[in-house]
Amino acid sequence: MLIVMKFGGTSVANAERIFNVANRIVDSYRKGNKLIVVLSAQGDTTDELIEKANEINPDASKRELDMLLSTGEQQSVALMAMALQKLGVPAVSLNAQQCGIFSTSTHSNARIKNIATERISKELDAKNIVVITGFQGVDRNDDITTLGRGGSDTSAVALAAKLNADLCEIYTDVDGVYTSDPRIVKSARKLSVIGYDEMLELASLGAKVLHNRSVELAKKYNVNLVVRSSLTNDEGTIVKEESALEKMLVNGVAVDKDVARIAVCNLKDEPGIAFAIFSILAKNKVSVDIILQSIGRKNTKDISFTVAAGDLNEALKILEENKQRLGYSEILHDEEVAKVSIVGGGMATNAGVAASMFEALYNEGINIKMISTSEIKISVLVSEKDADRAANAVHEKFIFNEK
Ligand code: ASP
Ligand code: MG
Repeated sequence: MLIVMKFGGTSVANAERIFNVANRIVDSYRKGNKLIVVLSAQGDTTDELIEKANEINPDASKRELDMLLSTGEQQSVALMAMALQKLGVPAVSLNAQQCGIFSTSTHSNARIKNIATERISKELDAKNIVVITGFQGVDRNDDITTLGRGGSDTSAVALAAKLNADLCEIYTDVDGVYTSDPRIVKSARKLSVIGYDEMLELASLGAKVLHNRSVELAKKYNVNLVVRSSLTNDEGTIVKEESALEKMLVNGVAVDKDVARIAVCNLKDEPGIAFAIFSILAKNKVSVDIILQSIGRKNTKDISFTVAAGDLNEALKILEENKQRLGYSEILHDEEVAKVSIVGGGMATNAGVAASMFEALYNEGINIKMISTSEIKISVLVSEKDADRAANAVHEKFIFNEK
């Protein structure tokens, strides 16, 4: 089998862990597999490099930052190849330039465009384990780029897709994808399988096990993906295309406390107002999540919406600057809110899921401030102080009893 094995920064943080991982790789190699190993930078290396850059020049150009950050992954792959050689197996490390991982030129957030396979195939044919830097690419000017924080997952999935690998294993410090954050919901448990779409929703809701774009890519190219622990032999979670029959009603309950709500009051009730508000925000790169508009009364209406807590001040400033043009009477905001969401592929074909969720919240005496739904997700906005209780109640209702 051709397998891509990706290890995150904590899994290769020091010499002991590098050898622990190397032994795993050797086991798989001795079973006769052809292996591509993709690595992140050791431990907190990427953060430390960013700090170093800030000491020198807080406004450093993104090109130079990428040049610097890419060295973290380069250290990991060289060290891993040395460890593998020490264990008596042939290995070679390659960076993005050497194996031809071509990307766009958007420094710090580049996208992989294509991967040349000649060098990798040559090394695999020579029975080498090929250890490749995650997180980096090279653009058409031969400049080094990086793919965005957490981007090594995407490197691994892209390699698996391009080389038609039988399997892409993402090794991390948790043992799979959970139904909720175990620190908040005690009864959270590991999922054995989850669909690409559900995983994408969970990833964008803040379940940080997989880089968003890696899941998008895996779905697009139907890559067999497994998320598992680098420290245990547990089976982990398989991420794949699920048939309608396999789909769980609810796979996961997510809690996001980094949200804020803004209400723009007494706007004119006429065409173009929503467009004006959200286009100004979009132009300033503030993304908006749940939106609610009140019914018009006496020719006015209110529009409220949520933004990431970090964007609150920016959003308020922009709205204030455009007060004349938008013609509202006042703006209210609330930071003490949290978003609780359920995600599940089975929802699309089952009526009454929303009602059951609201019932669970009602039983806990929790007030709902806003609601938004999609085919496979329902989100509610509640008081931040109620968030953990809400997550537990909803988890209990949908997941705890299901098996
Ligand atoms: N080392 C990079 C980061 O810390 C990429 C990764 O770990 O996936 O974001
Ligand atoms: Mg990661």
